[in-house]
Formats: sequence, structure tokens, C-alpha cells
Amino acid sequence: MTTTATQTSTQPSTRTASDPAPGAGSRTVLVINSGSSSIKYQLVDPEAGLALASGLVERIGEEEGAIIHRHGGQELRIQAPIADHGTGLAEVLRLFDEQGPDLSRANVVAVGHRVVQGGRFFSGPALIDDEVVDTITELVPLGPLHNPAHLKGIEVARELLASVPHVAVFDTAFFQDLPEAAARYALNREVADTYSIRRYGAHGTSHQYVSGEVSALLGRQDLKQVVLHLGNGASASAVVAGRAVDTSMGLTPLEGLVMGGRTGDIDPAAVFHLARVAGMGIDEIDHLFNRASGMKGLTGDNDMREVWRRIDAGQAQAREAMDIYVHRLVKYVGAYAAVMGGLDALTFTAGIGENDARLRAEVVERLGFLGARIDPGANTERSGRARVVSGSDSAVAVLVVPTNEELAIARQAVTLL
Ligand code: AMP
Repeated sequence: MTTTATQTSTQPSTRTASDPAPGAGSRTVLVINSGSSSIKYQLVDPEAGLALASGLVERIGEEEGAIIHRHGGQELRIQAPIADHGTGLAEVLRLFDEQGPDLSRANVVAVGHRVVQGGRFFSGPALIDDEVVDTITELVPLGPLHNPAHLKGIEVARELLASVPHVAVFDTAFFQDLPEAAARYALNREVADTYSIRRYGAHGTSHQYVSGEVSALLGRQDLKQVVLHLGNGASASAVVAGRAVDTSMGLTPLEGLVMGGRTGDIDPAAVFHLARVAGMGIDEIDHLFNRASGMKGLTGDNDMREVWRRIDAGQAQAREAMDIYVHRLVKYVGAYAAVMGGLDALTFTAGIGENDARLRAEVVERLGFLGARIDPGANTERSGRARVVSGSDSAVAVLVVPTNEELAIARQAVTLL
């Protein structure tokens, strides 16, 4: 086992407390995002909006695993094999004991679990009992990549942290009440209903959190908003007075915007064509559309910073890929403005949305017909805070709001206590 401790400037997305101990009497929530070979965690004070500690267990079940635990400006890295999720979480709890913060004194009132697919069953957070576990299990066919991994995390966490309630917070919940016209595909009704094929959306916790922050920042509850969550996965939502009325991800996160490795919208007949003409199998096409397309498939790299470097070096294909990316964004914002009958606020969030001023400027420039104007100074200012980046002459407020899914999960979890 190798252990290294370093001072770190790497911040989890929730603000890190300068005093890492939770305030007297404050409640905390341990937020867990369990993946197939990883567990991300964060200890959050939901009232103060602070991350008291965070970390990541990676490469579970592989020859060499790793744990990174961050607390009080220190980062501890451990390299050792981690047999399974139970071992990984037990190690994390040991690190809390050894490195702090002491969970027995942190007033942990709940464990919040991120769950990607809640199907039609969950329109809000759910207190986890055996019945909820069964329902998440039933939803595995709709979330085959994510739900099995969440179930592993839930199982081991309920065992190791048995004295506190566990709450599932679903990525689909915010989109549960989409108008039927937005949620139902024009697919044969019987087939669609038999196989539960409809728009579920994803990134809902982020869209809900960010649109709520925008309302708070602008001091208006009645806004017509578009939120662009642009990370390696990317999605758009249309939100009217706090309620989602459309979103770009569909049955799965494949639909919609151009993403790091996903096509986003594509004619489904491309599947028939590839099967018939190229002789590809379903799994091969799945991999092609979900992992080997998008910016990666267009340019060879899924990192937007690298795409810009190539554009600056004069690579025509990189510029063309960016044009495709921007075109799709502009198309969605325009469509959602039409669906909502107007647009008050356009917000950029996640890795690309929060950091890529050049992309924001290109998108807003193309939305000039809606009266949107960027303030070049505000847009390029580097800041981790939620802020308005449109000019005073803009008819649409353009904002950058850092997303914070862990804080949103923690806040939702405490609403059930
Ligand atoms: P996320 O999935 O939200 O963590 O976002 C990850 C993506 O954000 C990366 O793949 C990068 O493409 C992008 N990203 C991060 N920093 C920047 C930056 N400074 N400029 C442009 N893109 C960035």
C-alpha cells in the first residue's frame, strides 16, 4: 500500500470550509455517488452549503485501486487493491476516523445516494427501505449502466452506516412531471407503454439546483429559463417558474446535445443502416454512439480545451466539430424559447459551461436575435461564484452558475427527515 499526503488546492465543488469542523449543532449529510468501479463521496453541511470533506475510491476490483481523501486543505492518496464496494467504503470510514472529520461528532443525519434512473416511480427523494431497493432494482433495464452500481453502494452503506436514514435522490425526478407532449415519443403507444419508453431525462439534480440558484440570484420565481449543463455529458432543460417543461436527454442520456463521446441527436435509422450495411451488432453500435462519437469521434479528443488548442493550431476538423457543437446548442435554446414562449434567463453550468468563456461568447452571439448580449468583461472574468455575464442591454439574463449536485442531494435528503 502506498500512502501520500499533500497540501491540495483541488477543491470539491461545494465550498470547502476554512474551518473544516462542522459548526456546533449543524447537521451533515454523507453524499455517496457509487459507480461500477468507483465511489465518490462528500460530507456536506447542507444549511451552510459547505463540503467538510470529500474523496474518491477508484478502480474497485482491479489490480491496483486508489483512494483520495480531502479534508482541511490536505489530500491523502492511498494506492492498494480494493476488492469490492464494501471494502472501499470501509476504508473511507477508516480514513474519516484517522484523518477527520470524526463522523461520530459530525452529526451525520443522513446518507444521500445519487441514483440516475428513477423511472416513473420517483418524483422526489425517497427514504430507502427494502421496497425502494426493489424498485431501483426493477429499473435496472432502464438504467443498466448506473442503477446496478448505485445498488451496490446502497447495500454496503446501509450495512456500514446502519444507524442513520439513507435517502435516494434521483437524476430523473426533476423531469418526472414533464408535460406529456414533451415526455411521450411519437412511438406506437402500445409498444412505448409496454416497454416504458419515454423521456426520463438526466442531470435533473443539477438542472433543479442551478435553475433554483438563478431564481434566487435574480429574485424572480416566474422565470422562463434554459439551463445548459455542459460537461463530458451534456443536457439542456427548459424550466418555467421552477418546473421543468422539456429536457434534451431522453430514454437514456444519449439523446440531445453533442457530448464528449456521445452523438446526441441522430436519426435512429442510422442504427438500421449500420446493422444492415456495415454488419454491426447492437453492442458495437451502442459503444459507437455512446463512447466513440461526439467531440471524441469528431476530433479524436473529448476535452474542450484540447479542441480549442487544435482550432488555434488551424485544424479545420476541430473548428467544424465546434460549429456542430454550437449549432446544436443554439438550436435547442431557440426551440426551448419557442416552447416556453420567451426566454428570461440562459445559464451555463458544469465543466465546459462554467469554464469555457469562448464557447459561451459564441453561443450568445448566435442568440442575438433573442436580444441576448454578453458582457465580454464579465464573461471572461475567472470566478467560482454564480454570476450574471450578460450586458446591461441584454434582453435575456445570461448566467454562469457552478453546479453542485452533492449539496443539492444533501439538501433534498434532509427534507425527508
Ligand atoms: P464535467 O463532466 O462537468 O466534470 O466536465 C468535464 C469537461 O469539462 C472536460 O471534459 C472538459 O472538456 C471541460 N473543461 C474543464 N475545464 C475547462 C476549461 N477551462 N475550458 C473548457 N472546457 C473545460
